[in-house]
Amino acid sequence: MTVLVLNCGSSSIKYQLIDPGGPARLAKGIVERIGEDGGVADHAAALRQVVAEVEDERGPLDELGLAAVGHRIVHGGDRFAEPTLVDDDIERTIEELAPLAPLHNPPGLTALRMARRELPDVPHVAVFDTAFHQTLPEVAYTYALDRHLAAEYGVRRYGFHGTSVSYVSREAARLLDRDPADTNLVVLHLGNGASATAVRGGRSVDTSMGLTPLEGLVMGTRSGDVDPGALFYLHREAGLSVDELDQLVNRSSGLLGLAGANDLREVHRRARAGDAAAQLARELYCYRIRHYVGAYLAVLGRAHAIVFTAGVGENDSWVRSHALGGLRHLGVEVDHVRNSFAGSRAQVISPDDADVAVLVVPTDEELEIARQASELVAARSS
Ligand code: ADP
Repeated sequence: MTVLVLNCGSSSIKYQLIDPGGPARLAKGIVERIGEDGGVADHAAALRQVVAEVEDERGPLDELGLAAVGHRIVHGGDRFAEPTLVDDDIERTIEELAPLAPLHNPPGLTALRMARRELPDVPHVAVFDTAFHQTLPEVAYTYALDRHLAAEYGVRRYGFHGTSVSYVSREAARLLDRDPADTNLVVLHLGNGASATAVRGGRSVDTSMGLTPLEGLVMGTRSGDVDPGALFYLHREAGLSVDELDQLVNRSSGLLGLAGANDLREVHRRARAGDAAAQLARELYCYRIRHYVGAYLAVLGRAHAIVFTAGVGENDSWVRSHALGGLRHLGVEVDHVRNSFAGSRAQVISPDDADVAVLVVPTDEELEIARQASELVAARSS
């Protein structure tokens, strides 16, 4: 049994052919520069190329035991709390959610539509980044806005990175040799986007991203938390339009806005060379993480572990030790030798006797999508 996982961006489709029972990838690749000069014409052509590449590597699709195509969809609003088998109605519902995630949902929807057309005999399963956070209590997902207006427009915290956090939480419980239902975690997904999530007994109870993936931590190009009043002020005093403000906080803020580089490796290089802006940027990046860790330790009451994952979380020992520096009185401590050797596999980086363990757990969103898709299909056919 295999699952083809598609993760579609505005100009690329990443794909993996996965046997959900095993970690090995049967095929894996990316079709880039969709709609650009010298690239493939459109998403339909890109998808045909995905199928051709997979068949090149593994032989005809219909001989591969393809159980499902799993689609990563960013925003499921409050309509999708589970992976969902896609039919025309579901496709339309996803389409209706587009205004909530204008940058993120349309490419996924396009790929979904094309893939259903190209592979009509295979079940298509949508897996939503927001789904894992549908367990947030009302007190955590509500913004203190006019409740009628907020309800009418669906303005609330949704949270993102849920597929990753779900996978990493289970792996963390396994590493701790604990029952996931009895394990409380703070999960720090630090990639291009970055978020913190409080997980109680396998369920998300608070998360730093909000209505959109903009709120919370400092990211590569996104600001994270900003007083919304600052945006009104810039609108009035600097004459920035709504679109310019959107661009500002999504594309030219975060590490890029602070230090002129969105990749932490480059920020580190500049900081070590004495660049004061880069030094502040990485301090601020870590400070904001510490701020959320403190908040979520208080939300959880008792946390068993703090978990680092994704590009920065898995690779950047400086960020891990600085973000959690000075928290010994809260039972949080990083062992510097363990920390500096961590990365490629799930491991503990706190001292053995620490009250709250600190873990590095590599994420695998594609495997999680493949598992969720195959479980759904298996449950339906049994
Ligand atoms: P995405 O959020 O797009 O899935 P990833 O989880 O792959 O992204 O994270 C990508 C980010 O990880 C890059 O922007 C880069 O800054 C960071 N990164 C990757 N490797 C390292 C490293 N060795 N040290 C620090 N940061 C790294």
